[in-house]
Amino acid sequence: MTSEVSAPAVQAGGPGATAAAVPRRLIGMDRDDFAALIDDLGEKRFRANQLWQWVYGRGATSFDAMTTLAKSLRAALNGCADLARPAVADDRLSEDTTRKWLFRFPDGELVETVYIPTEERGTLCMSSQVGCTLTCSFCHTGTQRLVRNLTAGEIVGQLMASRDALGEWALPSQDRLVTNIVMMGMGEPLFNFDNVKKALRIIMDPEGLAVSKRRITLSTSGVVPMMARCGEEIGVNLAVSLHAVRDDLRDELVPLNRKYPIAELLDACRAYPGVHNARRITFEYVMLRGINDSEADARELVRLLRGIPAKTNLIPFNPWPGAPYECSTPEAIARFAEIVNAGGLSAPVRAPRGRDIGAACGQLRTASVRKRKKL
Ligand code: SAH
Ligand code: SF4
Repeated sequence: MTSEVSAPAVQAGGPGATAAAVPRRLIGMDRDDFAALIDDLGEKRFRANQLWQWVYGRGATSFDAMTTLAKSLRAALNGCADLARPAVADDRLSEDTTRKWLFRFPDGELVETVYIPTEERGTLCMSSQVGCTLTCSFCHTGTQRLVRNLTAGEIVGQLMASRDALGEWALPSQDRLVTNIVMMGMGEPLFNFDNVKKALRIIMDPEGLAVSKRRITLSTSGVVPMMARCGEEIGVNLAVSLHAVRDDLRDELVPLNRKYPIAELLDACRAYPGVHNARRITFEYVMLRGINDSEADARELVRLLRGIPAKTNLIPFNPWPGAPYECSTPEAIARFAEIVNAGGLSAPVRAPRGRDIGAACGQLRTASVRKRKKL
């Protein structure tokens, strides 16, 4: 896995300085990076905080708009830094108001980000990788061959560009449109831990993008060795893609299970830092007709999760071209939910959103492989 390439240092003059240094991309820089930049420019430290608020708190898209900064500092920033977001390659609105953006990064790679508004909240589903190295058999993203990690800037950039498109920077914080974030788009976030951590810490900063950790959920297919660090160092809510109650079936659906089987995964959940009854782990369970949706499976799910502060989320399977599964019948889903509920676990069925624009869970897959081949 690649990790973020650090931005080149600002050329502050002196031997070897070039007039045309590569601009430093501010989106994705954390507070330490901001302080280092301000030091390099010979400015006082409090300027770093002012710059932070302009960039992440107000979403400024030009240095000239940063009126509390001296003109000389704005000119210096214009010469050495940029505020670039990913480009919008496509923007689709579903008939159910779900919106999906296809974002393009400077190297031409593409990811998808989905905005799902409901009465109570607006959830942004963000990607952590281009494609995914895992090959869950029911997931379209897993069929995409080309994979790379997103940088912290590319992760934060999805939120910034979504806020730009929704026109929400000017809105008072209580009227925000993006209130919640789920790392449930393309990719396995715990395979890109450093960049996801850096990005989420920027996003959680109360003087900037200010999305609280209680409103952020990271979904993993079960990267057991990284789960404790996720709780300790990021502190967000955890969702685990379980999908099966027996190892033989989970090996097939989520091949990572061969490395980290169900018992180990559940041990890591029991030990997840900060988990308690008010802060439960969500177990995602995709409903596949005739595969994992029997009454016996539901009873076994209840048994397995006993003693873990847990809730479940039943996800009707979203089809994609060539998918080898069908969605469970509404009756089977209702019966499954009833048994899980009766076992004391909340078991809401996730309403599919944005199916008409290919924005629902598991439907995300960019055409970056094909596009690259055409070049
Ligand atoms: N890689 C992470 C996060 C992204 S997937 C993970 O696997 O958890 C987000 C959720 O969508 C996961 O629970 C995943 O199992 C589910 N999913 C994938 N394909 C799906 C499909 N075709 N229909 C419904 N849910 C799907
Ligand atoms: Fe990757 Fe998650 Fe899809 Fe599995 S379900 S292939 S881990 S994105």
